[in-house]
Amino acid sequence: MLDNQGKKPASSGRSSTNDVYELLRRKILEHSIAPDTKINILQIAKELGVSATPVREAMRLLQGDNLLVATSNKGYATTETLGLKGVRDLFELRLLIEPWAAGVAASNRLLNPGLELHAEIKSFDPQADSIQHEMFGHDTRFHSAILSSTENQAAIQAFEQTHCHLHLFRMFRDDWDWKTSIAQHEAIADAIAVGDPASAEEAMRLHLNSAYSRFIEVMPKNSETRPLAKAASSNLIRKD
Ligand SMILES: [Zn+2]
Repeated sequence: MLDNQGKKPASSGRSSTNDVYELLRRKILEHSIAPDTKINILQIAKELGVSATPVREAMRLLQGDNLLVATSNKGYATTETLGLKGVRDLFELRLLIEPWAAGVAASNRLLNPGLELHAEIKSFDPQADSIQHEMFGHDTRFHSAILSSTENQAAIQAFEQTHCHLHLFRMFRDDWDWKTSIAQHEAIADAIAVGDPASAEEAMRLHLNSAYSRFIEVMPKNSETRPLAKAASSNLIRKD
């Protein structure tokens, strides 16, 4: 089995844990394991034909992703999906980090990820069995490649610790307008590839604002909605 970076796991012990992890993560993202549901470790081990050890290890990884929480009796349950506030918090943080990262990527002659981003867009398969899974992998790799090219470990860690792709794609619906997302990725990749930081920043800001609007459109309106806080100017951060 492949992980979301498209790499094969190394050793067989690790592979077993990785396989179980990937499988359970996919089930949680697809809601074939519903939010706020207790997990029966022994039953999963039996279903998958593995011992309880790789299942327990996978549980810990999923807890690190904030897809599971520990319950009493050393058990686990799936977390709730994000509410409006959770979605807004994620996008406000992304708007602080990612337009800046796109600008840095565009200014970077040595590590410019333009080619990699265009190859990533080209490898996206609209005919894939699960458009949710395909978009999840593509979007994760696309945004991570831009962040990585900044080589700013603090920004990369802050971004990774949100596990934003897992939590947002857990809310993915089949009617998601993925064509708009891909077109916006092309605009971002183009601006980065030609070395135009201002356009790259603007294209990323537009992409995130548009995704945020689409998320809140389909969410229940029972709690407070407000527009995203104006992102602190990323011009304050040096770009060399
Ligand atoms: Zn995206």
